[in-house]
Amino acid sequence: MATGYLEDGVDLRANLERIRRGEIEEWLRESREKYKCPVCGEPLSVSAMRRKCYHCGADLSKFV
Ligand SMILES: [Zn+2]
Repeated sequence: MATGYLEDGVDLRANLERIRRGEIEEWLRESREKYKCPVCGEPLSVSAMRRKCYHCGADLSKFV
């Protein structure tokens, strides 16, 4: 649990660093590829990933 929390923090900090360096477009593209619904393939926000797809309603907790 502690390790997972730490990894989330590191990822967030790395993302912010990249945004600051002007790589927003690249970061968004990566995010879109990383966070998408496994059922319908639509892009998802990070907060939706552990819950429910707001496009097709799939229960995402089964896929994460
Ligand atoms: Zn979906």
